[in-house]
Amino acid sequence: MSEQTVATCRKTYQEKLKPTPIQERQLEAVLWRCRTLYNTALEQRISLYRQRGVSLSRYAQEAELKDLRADLPEYGAIHSHILQDVLTRLEKTYQAFFRRLSNGEKPGFPRFQGRNRYHSFTYKEYGNGARLDNGYLVLSKIGRIAVRWSRPIDGTIKTVTISKEADGWYVSFSCAEVPVEPLPLTGNETGIDVGLKVFLVTADGDVVENPRQYRKAERELAKANKRVSRRKKGSGRRQKAVAQCAKKHQHVRRQRTDFHHKTALMLVRQYDVIYVEAIQPANLSRRPTPVPDENGGYLHNGASRKAGLNKSIHDAGWGRFLRILACKAAWAGKRVEAVPPAYTSQDCSGCGERIQKGLSVRTHVCTNCGLVLDRDENAARNIQWRGQRLRGVPALAGILNREPVGL
Ligand SMILES: [Zn+2]
Repeated sequence: MSEQTVATCRKTYQEKLKPTPIQERQLEAVLWRCRTLYNTALEQRISLYRQRGVSLSRYAQEAELKDLRADLPEYGAIHSHILQDVLTRLEKTYQAFFRRLSNGEKPGFPRFQGRNRYHSFTYKEYGNGARLDNGYLVLSKIGRIAVRWSRPIDGTIKTVTISKEADGWYVSFSCAEVPVEPLPLTGNETGIDVGLKVFLVTADGDVVENPRQYRKAERELAKANKRVSRRKKGSGRRQKAVAQCAKKHQHVRRQRTDFHHKTALMLVRQYDVIYVEAIQPANLSRRPTPVPDENGGYLHNGASRKAGLNKSIHDAGWGRFLRILACKAAWAGKRVEAVPPAYTSQDCSGCGERIQKGLSVRTHVCTNCGLVLDRDENAARNIQWRGQRLRGVPALAGILNREPVGL
């Protein structure tokens, strides 16, 4: 049914670092200079474009790095790969900006990075500036840093990223050729859809609720944010509040990631193929199209709730979850398949009839075949049905009274 040829995958391992106070200051200095370089390179691009209408490429800027490192010893003291990576990041931000622009979105222009927004640097080639030795992380020009190992590393390390989080320094190893650990096949497939009130619904009607503690943490986060804005700029008390806020953020982020991993594992244990809707970020922020009613007017389409929906979609971090799910599936020898998202909540999963409904309508009621189903479950079934049709798998004729496809 599905080919089980995937023997390896990519995986990132993150471990906490235990730098000495001197090393910490050195790491801090590298970060500071990377941020300065990023902002300077951005400024250069902007002003050149304004003055002469010229777009500067990463390569043109990279060529200048050599001079920069020769002229400024503090940059000469930083491994060239780290600096190249800074320019690559800027380039990626630019590309994303123009891509979204041409997609008809309204992206924010690449912006200057403040002290709290730029918090990592990368060695793009393991063994060149960064390597492991006897359990220590050895960085060129900084030295041997102790690592608090939590698990062994599999595969081949490709890149090494050092990041500063609210509670200290971390190292991430991005590894390729990590051997997969296939989970037993179950012969089951399903579609999943993001729920309006719940985290997700499967085509079998199983529901995964949003973790409640996340709401609580979010309220605390809002409180911490308020505390920051109440305090005077530049004051020590404000700085303390900022640090507290960053810790809360980190806590929320970790809780969410943990929840995503657990949910993903639950799914890949149960199913061999999981169908999802391909994400179209442009659509999420658009107002829902008006739904005409029979009297020439418009049905309530939940436009006012759209803000709330956007919020919950962002909350749930659906995109991040799908990435984790895809990773986990690859690792377990299972598959995630994306299907085009149009009308998955409107179409009837029983007969295919399009039943238009606003966002506030929570139940799918088919006037054609009489199917009554939770809105999200109906969508999840459509996603599965569509995915299986695309793959040429016969539809679940037993559940759906559609004609089986591919027979
Ligand atoms: Zn129907």
